[in-house]
Amino acid sequence: MQHILEIDEIKKYDLVVCGGGFTGVACAYYAAKSGLSVALVESRGALGGVGTTCNVPFLLGGIDYEKDSAKYRFVVGGLFKKLYYDLRKSDDCVNVYDIDRERNPHAWFSGLANAIIYNVEKMKILLDSYIKEQNIDLMYFTKVIDVKRTDRIVDYVVCANKSGNIVLEASCFADCTGDGDIAALAGCDYVLGRDEDSLMAPASLIMTVDNVDTEKYLDCIVKNNSPRFRKKIEDLRQKGIWNFPYDILISAELKRKRLHMINTIRQVGIDGTNNDDLTEGMIQGRKENIELFKILKEHFDGFENAEIESVSEMIGIRETRRIIGDITLTLSDLFEGKKYTDIISLSSYSFDLPDPKKPSYQPLHGDKRVIKNNYTEIPYRCLIPKGINNLICPGRSISVERDVLGPIRVMGPCIGMGQAAGLASSILISCSEKNYRKVDESELQNLLRKNDCIIDSDDICIIEETI
Ligand SMILES: Cc1cc2nc3c(=O)[nH]c(=O)nc-3n(C[C@H](O)[C@H](O)[C@H](O)COP(=O)(O)OP(=O)(O)OC[C@H]3O[C@@H](n4cnc5c(N)ncnc54)[C@H](O)[C@@H]3O)c2cc1C
Repeated sequence: MQHILEIDEIKKYDLVVCGGGFTGVACAYYAAKSGLSVALVESRGALGGVGTTCNVPFLLGGIDYEKDSAKYRFVVGGLFKKLYYDLRKSDDCVNVYDIDRERNPHAWFSGLANAIIYNVEKMKILLDSYIKEQNIDLMYFTKVIDVKRTDRIVDYVVCANKSGNIVLEASCFADCTGDGDIAALAGCDYVLGRDEDSLMAPASLIMTVDNVDTEKYLDCIVKNNSPRFRKKIEDLRQKGIWNFPYDILISAELKRKRLHMINTIRQVGIDGTNNDDLTEGMIQGRKENIELFKILKEHFDGFENAEIESVSEMIGIRETRRIIGDITLTLSDLFEGKKYTDIISLSSYSFDLPDPKKPSYQPLHGDKRVIKNNYTEIPYRCLIPKGINNLICPGRSISVERDVLGPIRVMGPCIGMGQAAGLASSILISCSEKNYRKVDESELQNLLRKNDCIIDSDDICIIEETI
């Protein structure tokens, strides 16, 4: 059967941002704030990506805690900082200073207190307002389905939505799809998963559960002397009750008391770039969450009167494509403290990338080596795919050795990379050659600082306790 794609409309911008997760929002926001005409294309009906449509309302990697002064600090600035204060003003996120670090209801571990924990629906509205405020041309329910490239230049992307097929032309393009869809469609080189077998970290369909007695649940953690219940789960497994391939329970209280995110199921063998896998993942994930919920109610203190609030509409994908960029950030760079001159964002998060086959095992946990510069420093050149000039790929598809995904894939640094890509685009637009590698790194770093972004330890600043 022959398909002929008819084009219904052609539009032209300075920058087209593909994907409206936190990376895409940050990118579009700063480009438009700098005067560019920007389109933001999002295949679903809300901004925020995994952080809203997959119900993961924890922005990690952008905050740290200084023990001596008992102060929280921003490690990612710009939009991350703005989000925290805007949400605080309307009481739509947790005040980090209110968190009990010894008995943390938001996932127990003290490190997981270093997050913006927010109300999902309020976040969606806030992101909509930021985009409207900057006059960005937002297209919901619109998917990028093709790319036209000539030599080293992307000429346009083709999108499909209810109104038909649309061509979006631009001087430059940002691939914020998380999966590197645009880079792949443009024929850029990439890698998928582990070197040895291309397997990727497990996926998770998140369940949100209401009416949990959090205090009782925390007492149960103390009684079992285990925040993730490995021993109790082993006992349940012996009794034939727990038959899942994972050995830990992750339940985290959200902004609203008694409402918990159950980030427990780990779905192995799912390739997030394969639609059959995604479909099966949804069907199996929904069924498995219901089975898990029954076990929680019967065997875990605090869940006796719990109710399912929702199972997400979209399976959460932790890992897919990584582009081959101008440079590739490696684990040894982090452990040896290699100094790059083109740092555009930091991450305060650590190594968290579950094993593709053993979903409760973290290969780098227990490793005695530490990130030498305290924070993962992200160089600009990791965002630029080889062989192409006017495409930039911020977010988890950047050019890093696989294990480096641990600290950089979370939403704080993704915002950091997104805002750098947006500001880089604003510099690129006045260059005669539309080539992201021609953007002067000092000019970009100055512009980032001017926009309250954080690119090194000297920029790190204290979070105000009262606002
Ligand atoms: C289960 C799970 C739990 C996690 N927990 C945390 C956590 O607690 N804290 C944290 O900070 N991070 C967490 N992460 C990591 C983090 O959520 C992601 O890595 C982060 O969301 C990346 O942001 P992004 O904007 O780059 O991508 P995404 O959030 O994936 O957003 C990409 C957007 O692009 C859109 N899109 C994709 N393809 C197309 C296309 N072809 N055309 C148009 N639009 C498209 C998608 O609809 C989506 O909205 C978790 C991830 C998973 C999967």
